[in-house]
Amino acid sequence: MEKLFEIKNLNMYYPVTDGILGNIKGYVYALNNVNIDIYKNEILGLVGESGSGKSTFGNCILKLITPTSGEIFFEGENILTKKKNQLKTFRKNTQLIFQNPYMSLNPRMKIYDILKEPFIVNGIKNKKEIEEKIKKIVSLIGMQDEILSRYPHEFSGGQRQRIAIARAIILKPQFIVADEPVSALDVSIQAQIINLLTDLKQHLNLTMLFISHDLSIIKYISDRVAVMYLGEIVELAEKNEFFANHKHPYSQALFDAVPVISDDKKHSKTILKGDLPLPNNPPSGCKFHTRCPYAMDKCKTENPELKELAPNHSVKCFLFEK
Ligand code: SF4
Repeated sequence: MEKLFEIKNLNMYYPVTDGILGNIKGYVYALNNVNIDIYKNEILGLVGESGSGKSTFGNCILKLITPTSGEIFFEGENILTKKKNQLKTFRKNTQLIFQNPYMSLNPRMKIYDILKEPFIVNGIKNKKEIEEKIKKIVSLIGMQDEILSRYPHEFSGGQRQRIAIARAIILKPQFIVADEPVSALDVSIQAQIINLLTDLKQHLNLTMLFISHDLSIIKYISDRVAVMYLGEIVELAEKNEFFANHKHPYSQALFDAVPVISDDKKHSKTILKGDLPLPNNPPSGCKFHTRCPYAMDKCKTENPELKELAPNHSVKCFLFEK
């Protein structure tokens, strides 16, 4: 498999200041030593609780925010060492689909102008070419040309997310970060958007980082799954292997927290104790030890490495170290 991204030792620490003098009094540790590759044409599902660092990771690899340290190679080139004017091709080739379609479309612009914007930003001025591409993309997202003269408020949440997706893919990017793209939508609409994204992935040979807290959506859409806890990847596996054979206690807890229907009652057998610790004061050792039912003494002082347990299956836990 060919790599599109190689991400090495990625750290993102946000300084916390005291407000008056601006003195740094600590850091929020959003990402801690993340190492992962993203392969061409795959959908990598990134799952974890809210606040685990998933969106920060997506924003870092798009270079929408600059990480504290580490390296991010896109097609073999380190995007973190590039200047703004050297990132034009990267910007065109990478896009973000936001969680909230209500916020991501300018309410004062007609859909035609919203879809025209990426061409203008990238210096493409040929009117005929723009018009043809806009009409093609509208058909690709299953909508009619008549939407082009309307405004975002005239559409439902699902339709707006289709339009936001159209804008993201109109210049045929290689890579998309889809950050919880269906979590603001009705359940009845979610499947339509997920199906649209999988169709587009096939049609346009897209590579995607799909961020979600919902394991059922991750199962449906992903080729591989990465689990993130307090800014660290704790398990990484091919999708079928992950869903059949997940190992990390946090992955187990995520599965156990999914409600199941049994004897006409909805119940869950959550083994997660307490809340996600604050990232400005993460636990020592293994960051999951404060909530882990299997924690040992050494888990409080030593942080295990993400190690390959089997081909294409890595886990960060002392329980599985050989
Ligand atoms: S290293 Fe220890 S605390 Fe961390 S997940 Fe494994 S058993 Fe639990």
